[in-house]
Amino acid sequence: DQGLAQVDPEIAAVLDGELTRQRGTLEMIASENFVPRAVLQAQGSVLTNKYAEGYPGRRYYGGCEQVDVAENLAIERVKALFGAEHANVQPHAGAQANAAVLHALINAGDKIMGLNLAHGGHLTHGMKINFSGKLYEVAAYGVEESTSLIDMDKVRDKALAERPDVIIAGWSAYPRHLDFAAFRSIADEVGAKLWTDMAHFAGLVAADLHPSPVPHSDVVSSTVHKTIGGPRSGFILSREQWAKKIDSAVFPGQQGGPLMHVIAAKAVAFKIAGSADFVERQERVLRGAKIIAERLTGADVADAGVSVLTGGTDVHLVLVDLRHSDLDGQQAEDLLHSVGITVNRNAVPFDPRPPRVTSGLRIGTPALAARGFGDAEFSEVADIIALALAGGGKADVDALRARVDRLADNFPLYPGLEQY
Ligand code: PLP
Repeated sequence: DQGLAQVDPEIAAVLDGELTRQRGTLEMIASENFVPRAVLQAQGSVLTNKYAEGYPGRRYYGGCEQVDVAENLAIERVKALFGAEHANVQPHAGAQANAAVLHALINAGDKIMGLNLAHGGHLTHGMKINFSGKLYEVAAYGVEESTSLIDMDKVRDKALAERPDVIIAGWSAYPRHLDFAAFRSIADEVGAKLWTDMAHFAGLVAADLHPSPVPHSDVVSSTVHKTIGGPRSGFILSREQWAKKIDSAVFPGQQGGPLMHVIAAKAVAFKIAGSADFVERQERVLRGAKIIAERLTGADVADAGVSVLTGGTDVHLVLVDLRHSDLDGQQAEDLLHSVGITVNRNAVPFDPRPPRVTSGLRIGTPALAARGFGDAEFSEVADIIALALAGGGKADVDALRARVDRLADNFPLYPGLEQY
């Protein structure tokens, strides 16, 4: 039985190349993170071999005694972490969790209302060619052009006019807290269910550094791989009232056999998320984002037409506004890539440039905090980004790249992990 390097040297080379890339660059895509070694081990395990359709104690396959333990641990840990009445840990990813939520709460043809995709919403909240836009009627609320903030009075007006069956709170790109109590009250007023998609900020909620949507929402969905820093996957929390419908919407409604290796890795991630170290890391995530937002509102950056949406951040990401800059989103992403910093371009609300180009960047701190970065390192990263964006085409890429290399060298990633 041969190892990967013997069986498939081409794929072994991809894995080696990717480890080198992750070690040698600064990962600032807001939805990414570095999982702990323990999560890699659980996910790359023999549990990948097991079929386990159904739920613990109620499977359609024999031999589930070990995986039942793993799934029960994941369920109990995530319920305790978020104070939830019910949890389903089987969704393969965030999008699958969201499909199951809508499947459980409403019928095809009913109406959903979430944050406009162009203003920071997610594909699964009603984008035209996503399942959510095809199966359901869609209304959307947006942010205000003058502030880039969600105005809850406007959300209420929209809900009263549209009468949605489900209101969605949650975002992929929004740098401030949502008012979950206000969402609840609007949902009650129009007779809608409230679903919060906390995919991005779940790790901050787990650490008690962000308001929790759980007490206010009928259902809360999330990914595990963003701020929580676990395996790529999803989960759903709900009030007891929705437990049966959520479970049957996930299986057999949306999925077949659960990925038991991933569920075991989720259990590990939820255990870690309950630790004091995790809270300390999330504090560094938040401080890092504030340091970057502050530096990117400096005079040199402003002179180059670069600013920060909403003037700052309360979460793990900063949205850079390039509408008045000579650099567009694509050019800014490429420029930062050339100095060794990975980010993604992102449309800003009311973006004059096309979606493939955009006038914004989304910059996140979770992965670098996982790598060990604190205030000093985030200040250095912030300065590198600021000099790159302020300099535009004239930035001294080599000098900035050298500063990135020093940071990467000082914080080795997966030090014990060997190449294939
Ligand atoms: N929900 C939100 C708010 C997201 O930002 C994302 C990821 O981008 C998802 C759901 C989907 O997660 P996944 O990529 O795991 O399907």
